[in-house]
Amino acid sequence: MPVSTDLPAVTVLGLGPMGRALTHAFLEAGLRTTVWNRTPGRDRALLERGAVGAASAAEAVAASPLTVVCVVNYDAADAILRNAPVSDALKGRTVVNLTADTPNRARETASWAEAHGVRYLDGAIMTPTTTIGTPAAVFLHSGPEDLYREHRPALDSLGGTHTHLGEDIGRAAAYDIALLDLFWTATAGYAHALAVARAEGVSARELAPFAQGIAAILPPLIAEWADDVDAGTFSGEGNPITSAVSSMAHIVQASESHGIDAGVMRAAEGQARRVVGLGHGTDGFMRVTELLGRR
Ligand code: NDP
Repeated sequence: MPVSTDLPAVTVLGLGPMGRALTHAFLEAGLRTTVWNRTPGRDRALLERGAVGAASAAEAVAASPLTVVCVVNYDAADAILRNAPVSDALKGRTVVNLTADTPNRARETASWAEAHGVRYLDGAIMTPTTTIGTPAAVFLHSGPEDLYREHRPALDSLGGTHTHLGEDIGRAAAYDIALLDLFWTATAGYAHALAVARAEGVSARELAPFAQGIAAILPPLIAEWADDVDAGTFSGEGNPITSAVSSMAHIVQASESHGIDAGVMRAAEGQARRVVGLGHGTDGFMRVTELLGRR
């Protein structure tokens, strides 16, 4: 696609799988896109598609009013941004940091940006590289709303849905952490389930369609439990936590009979048992959120 004169130029710092996907989408949308990566050579295919290579991060950020950073974590992002040539070049320009890390790291980097006259938005990408540039991509943003609105046209060229979560700069990272908590514990659960099934002579392929059926039970429960947790009701009608404890104990026993570590399930079972011990055995499993929130 020819370079657009209506859309602003953009710089991408970080050309891992996600940085490359973001750059592809910007190029597809016709933005003049300047790229830089710590390790040289990762930009080769992008340069062939029309990206402009920069010799340094400072040169890259000087090329565009908007810089998107997407590297492994905030140690890496800070290593790139927080040095005199780069921060001088960024003065008065905008950084959208799509690197994943904790809410506090986002707040620290935003404080640094404010002290150095850098306009700063934080963000999180909730979908894999293959979704970028398609309607399936999901981006979360936080920080000054006027800045978000100003750069929305460029961000829209990444496809998908963009949600501004509020002015608290740590909010996108807070959602990211919570959502990845769900993702990784579910993934760890599936890995464990496959190990236990294999020990019982059930292949992953045999189990998979039934595992998908179990996963499909969750979406309506996620909404129902959210209402329970916000209302503090924790109804256990039809599935009290005493029943959950019994089911979890079977999983622990079956795993350990095969010498398979059941640490993750033991942790969940232990939390549920504590809730029962506190006299809430007829409540639903989500009563655990209150236990976890206690200091
Ligand atoms: P990585 O998380 O592996 O990040 C790779 C990038 O980080 C490369 O550009 C690498 O540079 C750079 N980097 C690492 N250490 C440093 C450092 N000390 N200084 C400078 N640059 C450094 O790959 P992704 O591209 O996949 O992920 C980028 C971000 O996107 C991460 O925060 C990730 O959590 C997030 N994300 C990724 C998704 C995915 O599907 N891949 C999905 C959603 C979010 P170099 O080439 O020099 O090593």
